[in-house]
Amino acid sequence: DDGARVPVLIIGTGYGGSVAALRLAQAGVDVHMVEMGMAWDTPGTDGKIFAHTTKPDYRSYWLRTRTKAPLSNFLGFPIDKNVPKYTGILDAEEMGGITVYQGRGVGGGSLVNGGMAVTPKRANFGSVLPSVNADEMYNTYYPRANAGLGVGLVDPAWFDTVACYQYARVGRKHAQRSGFPFVFVPDVYDWDYMKQEAAGTVPKSAVDGEILYGNNHGKKSLQQTYIAAAKATGKVSISPLHQVTSVAPASGGGYTVTINQLTTDGTVTATKTVTSDRVFFAAGSVGTSKLLVWLKATGVLPNLNDEIGKGWGENGNVMCGRANHMWDPTGKVQAAIPCAGIDNWDAGGAFAEVAPLPTGIETYASFYLSITKNPHRAQFSWNAAAGKVELNWQTAWKQPSIDMAKTIFDKINSKEGTIYRTDLFGTNKIWGDHLTYHPLGGAVLNRATDNYGRLHGYTGLYVIDGALIPGNTTVNPFVTITALAERNIEKIIATDL
Ligand code: FAD
Repeated sequence: DDGARVPVLIIGTGYGGSVAALRLAQAGVDVHMVEMGMAWDTPGTDGKIFAHTTKPDYRSYWLRTRTKAPLSNFLGFPIDKNVPKYTGILDAEEMGGITVYQGRGVGGGSLVNGGMAVTPKRANFGSVLPSVNADEMYNTYYPRANAGLGVGLVDPAWFDTVACYQYARVGRKHAQRSGFPFVFVPDVYDWDYMKQEAAGTVPKSAVDGEILYGNNHGKKSLQQTYIAAAKATGKVSISPLHQVTSVAPASGGGYTVTINQLTTDGTVTATKTVTSDRVFFAAGSVGTSKLLVWLKATGVLPNLNDEIGKGWGENGNVMCGRANHMWDPTGKVQAAIPCAGIDNWDAGGAFAEVAPLPTGIETYASFYLSITKNPHRAQFSWNAAAGKVELNWQTAWKQPSIDMAKTIFDKINSKEGTIYRTDLFGTNKIWGDHLTYHPLGGAVLNRATDNYGRLHGYTGLYVIDGALIPGNTTVNPFVTITALAERNIEKIIATDL
């Protein structure tokens, strides 16, 4: 409520925010979470909470009037279409040289993502978070995060025979024939539920191709895991459709947080202020960085240090498709939850997921999302004239990612006698190099904050999301974001409260 005073306010309800809320509540602290997106707990006019991947509607995009699908074209035809402006679930945020996809709503990215829950190889951890004790992470916090998220692995025997993973078996065959290590990728999807979907005994979600705009069944998003547990303590309240716009030191101690209440067409209907002893920035890498850069540049929080806004990376994301021979069909029915990967990180700097193309027709295409060791890092800065925070990422900076992905796919194409698809990202465009699903950094651990996420310059302000991670996790990021949040909140509860 306007004018309220709370002990802890958390900005955002993604992985970092949900971990903080649960652990603080379990320690007896009352927590208030503020989320700009919707609650996503009420069915729409079609009786479903989430829209289908192939039929985006008002629910699908954050305040856009036209969809912006990651794959813009298919067989030469543009895919995007007009939709009503609405506070939908997926934000395709255009940041100059890159489109950054993010989840909007209670659960953050867990609402829209593929649920791939990957712990980095331990040998690579030093490059991910150099100031963090790896023994503690691999003995305590990664296991705690995996348990809290409900991570599991596909049954390999079922995988070997079920129709909906034919595309992944083709991906495995091609990887192995070219000598690349093939790995199963863990996921938070309920694998027993998916077996029942494939058997036709329950309502279908992944097997029907649902992903990107939400899964109506089967996926354990944060709503089903950390947030459910946090709410069950009775100490956590959440305000959806409320966007934090400022955090300023309060005269009597603590911080005054300014919050805009939104309607579903994005109109601001009220501006409220809440005073909080402690504030956790958990608005995601982009959300947290934009707030902090603005707060420092405009003199609201001038003592934040010069690392604010720096060290941003896109986890080296690059997409591509390959055109298979007619004797290698990838299947009409494709489970939308990926479970297979090609690991060429050590030799070529690329870890590629065998991704679905859930179009409902045979495409003879293999589709991949690669995570690569792209060395480029960008910076957020305040453009006073334009009145917004900008990111200086250059589209050309994806070239190292393309080169690393080619270490896998040039070899497979040459071995199989196949070619790249050129119809998925525009006309005659092979590489999906205009986007990322994995924004990381902007308030890097042990630089903008201390080694536990306490912001330098202000007691009681913390960062606890993907903004802490300096640009790359070598694999999909949310398990690392969750594990780091588990580590940091344990320390903060023990020493600061
Ligand atoms: P987020 O989860 O982004 O949460 C931040 C929250 O804060 C959001 O809900 C946002 O609406 C809210 N917010 C922002 N600003 C404000 C504000 N000013 N006021 C109030 N609220 C605010 N990762 C994986 O590991 N595996 C995958 O399979 C995978 N697939 C993905 C697929 C897609 C399509 C996308 C978009 C992402 C995917 N990711 C995946 C990435 C993963 O979802 C993110 O890394 C993760 O969600 C980041 O967690 P976070 O806690 O940093 O922030």
